[in-house]
Amino acid sequence: MSKTKFIFVTGGVTSSLGKGIIAASLAKLLQSQNFRVTIQKLDPYLNVDPGTLNPYEHGECYVTDDGAETDLDLGHYERFLNVRTSQANNVTTGRIYQSVIDKERKGEFLGKTVQVVPHITNEIKNRILLLDKNKEYDIIITEIGGTVGDIESLPYIEAVRQLIYELGESNAMTIHLTLIPYLSAAAELKTKPTQHSVKTLMESGIKADVLVCRTEHELSEELRKKMALFCNVKYEAVIQSIDVNTIYDVPLKMLEEGLDKVVIDRLDLNPKQKIDLTQWNEFLTKYKNPKSKIKIGLVGKYVELQDSYKSILEAFIHSGAVNEVDIEVVSLHSEHISKKNYKTLLDGLHGLLVAPGFGERGIEGKIRAVEYVRKNKIPFFGICLGMQMAVIEYSRNILGLVGANSTEITDDTKYPVIDLMESQKKIKIKGGTMRLGSWECSLTENSLVHNIYGKTIINERHRHRYEFNNKFSKNIFSPAFRASGVNPETGLIEIIELKDHPWFIGVQFHPEYKSTVSEPHPLFVSFVKAAHYYSKLK
Ligand code: GLN
Repeated sequence: MSKTKFIFVTGGVTSSLGKGIIAASLAKLLQSQNFRVTIQKLDPYLNVDPGTLNPYEHGECYVTDDGAETDLDLGHYERFLNVRTSQANNVTTGRIYQSVIDKERKGEFLGKTVQVVPHITNEIKNRILLLDKNKEYDIIITEIGGTVGDIESLPYIEAVRQLIYELGESNAMTIHLTLIPYLSAAAELKTKPTQHSVKTLMESGIKADVLVCRTEHELSEELRKKMALFCNVKYEAVIQSIDVNTIYDVPLKMLEEGLDKVVIDRLDLNPKQKIDLTQWNEFLTKYKNPKSKIKIGLVGKYVELQDSYKSILEAFIHSGAVNEVDIEVVSLHSEHISKKNYKTLLDGLHGLLVAPGFGERGIEGKIRAVEYVRKNKIPFFGICLGMQMAVIEYSRNILGLVGANSTEITDDTKYPVIDLMESQKKIKIKGGTMRLGSWECSLTENSLVHNIYGKTIINERHRHRYEFNNKFSKNIFSPAFRASGVNPETGLIEIIELKDHPWFIGVQFHPEYKSTVSEPHPLFVSFVKAAHYYSKLK
């Protein structure tokens, strides 16, 4: 059996260069030649996982089927490759230290001094090799978060150095993603920061095999030659990564530059088929040639930061392409939606999505927005907190349950229609204790969601502590406002839908996590279709 090959992706010069997108694009190109590929992200911060991080700090927290709260790059991997990731695909320094310290307490290193090298580095290496345990993959791409030279990423770089030595150079390689800044005063692209960052890598005993150069301008042949010479890489291994309009163009750009070929040659791999990107290209053609344009409002409290709702925005791209519409996502800060301005803000939208979230800030703005779209028969999609807001709005404004609320917001209500889940009541620790991951949901025959999914049992991913309070089912649900998706074991309400409305669905789960280029999520596709239809009536 052929050996698994390992590719390590490091970053130089600055953060936010898009290592995740490059890793996912390379993986896409290799997958399209029939290699079995997976990607892993190693994050150098001390949080055990990003679940406890505010979206302003770290963007969206992405949830996998097995309930891991992970870095948003895992979302890119799934969207590009359409393969599921898991806990093993995202490891942080916090988790590494936690397991080393747990082992120390158990006495596993009895008598020994526990140190960064070798104990932490060994744990890092184990986590990388864990993905190879079942020999499921031909290629494992490991992305090291942060920038080379950072104090906190040193143990990772050392672990990679050791692994390359242990696996053998023919089985492991490195790709260094770097920035080639353009100095407009000199009208010149500058390679010096890259030279320094390659040197820093070299000081740690790692030679960059490939340089992927982020740039705003084309790299000349002369510049490529210079970098190859000074950075000790082959000429064809200097890969240009020029700014593009959409991340979905990056695999094609990498193909043009021959990134896959350089990797295949370097690792002596035999492609199992000629590259086939037919489906990817079909998606891009539709995405770039929309037949009409619609406006969808996204109500949330972290809207200033694009990355906070990454998976939702990407799911709109996938579903927009299916419907051949260009979706302008209008960000609406929930705290800024007031009694005075809500009509002006919401007028002209063809659909409204109320986003997931936590805490009381902006709640009333969300409820007001739901009321407006319910009354005006504008397609509405509520996700997690968004679904809970729809229940509150209906309870207050249609059923007259004055002051109905969620106990996440206040305990001082006669009608706690959304309440802490029973299983959450004893939980004191915040990290990793929500209801997480994939759970089964059974759909009511002939409901709107049943029609959309085309089946009665679905599995969707979750991340919440509160739920619809079943004590109120009799008061709230009726043929006009029904619970059309329920967890078959616990009876937990997963979906609500309003009848006398073109499209009004709230889901307790997060469909956005499962939308990929090759399988756009059916709820998003249907919602966008409804919004498109609504736009034509206007
Ligand atoms: N804050 C709500 C809960 O915990 C909703 C969570 C979410 O939107 N992900 O139930």
